[in-house]
Amino acid sequence: MRKEQNYNLKQHNTFGIDARCAQFVEYSNEAEAQEVAAMLRSSSLPFIIIGGGSNLLLTRDYEGIVVHSACKGVEREGVCLTCGSGEVFDDVVAQSIAMGLYGAENLSLIPGDVGASAVQNIGAYGAEAKDLICRIRAVEIATGKVCEIEKEACDYGYRQSRFKHEWKNRFLIVSVTYAFSETFHPLLDYGNIRAELEKEGIAMPTALQLRRTIIRIREAKLPDPKVLGNAGSFFMNPIVAREVYQKLAAQYEGMPHYDIDDDHVKIPAGWMIDQCGWKGKSMGRAGVHDKQALVLVNRGGATGEEVVALCRQIQADVKAKFGIDIYPEVNVI
Ligand SMILES: Cc1cc2nc3c(=O)[nH]c(=O)nc-3n(C[C@H](O)[C@H](O)[C@H](O)COP(=O)(O)OP(=O)(O)OC[C@H]3O[C@@H](n4cnc5c(N)ncnc54)[C@H](O)[C@@H]3O)c2cc1C
Repeated sequence: MRKEQNYNLKQHNTFGIDARCAQFVEYSNEAEAQEVAAMLRSSSLPFIIIGGGSNLLLTRDYEGIVVHSACKGVEREGVCLTCGSGEVFDDVVAQSIAMGLYGAENLSLIPGDVGASAVQNIGAYGAEAKDLICRIRAVEIATGKVCEIEKEACDYGYRQSRFKHEWKNRFLIVSVTYAFSETFHPLLDYGNIRAELEKEGIAMPTALQLRRTIIRIREAKLPDPKVLGNAGSFFMNPIVAREVYQKLAAQYEGMPHYDIDDDHVKIPAGWMIDQCGWKGKSMGRAGVHDKQALVLVNRGGATGEEVVALCRQIQADVKAKFGIDIYPEVNVI
């Protein structure tokens, strides 16, 4: 188990915020995760668990313990891969394709680690982690017990799981087992996948061609956190009552929306932020990405407080213009 005091987290959050934590502990296997669990039980300090820190905004130094998984390894059994929670998820996608195991192509280039994929139920272009996950191995912090958690127990929904709610901070994930298919069933009807493939003259891609296309689409749309600090979509898309949407739609022609059910409609937060004139704008050293208004960026040296100030201003502007509250999707610490 690795232990550091007064540790700088700049390399552990994709916003690139320069913040420290009182203690940093890292486990590399199940036995070390049990040691960390015992340490957390005996400490009076608060703690958070992080993976790649790509869904995280640190607003200040953290006066507690930051736990990080460095569990590595990918083991194959039939069509299943059991992957250490500290493996980079996109490396697993690349490896699966190289092994002739299919199903993860559309999840290519989503930042973050394997452990978080099971917490966040990451998704893109019609695919979700839950479609691949079969079980999660984790140490329960309160007891130190090793648990095998079946996918069915995780209550997976759109970017949701029990790990984000009643199981928050309950488990240290050690590994995730994904089940793939030996037959390639490409999912091409999402976003501009087909249009991009057509540009390259590809009607029916191989899995590797599909992965490369997804990567190209994402690179064109989203800032690379290594170049411009960010945490992907910063705000959740709000769900409003249908009457609220109808009133707004009468006022704003072409307002995009997705029907949730008969009574509820989801409105893209990015569109509202763009309508408020924020796309490409900055406040201090924090800003709004010029291609996607849902993404807040660190233009260089921004503090977490600067990002929060920008977030609050955007929330106020969206509320003033549309009467709708929007909330961060990222974990704000
Ligand atoms: C440029 C960019 C694009 C993105 N695009 C997408 C996208 O298309 N789709 C999508 O779904 N997401 C996207 N995201 C968000 C992000 O990639 C995911 O939320 C990802 O799962 C975060 O992984 P992480 O390892 O960085 O987790 P972190 O942000 O460090 O943590 C996320 C959560 O997982 C928990 N956690 C992490 N590791 C463990 C562990 N070992 N044990 C227990 N709990 C753990 C944390 O406590 C936290 O609650 C994007 C982010 C960026 C920066």
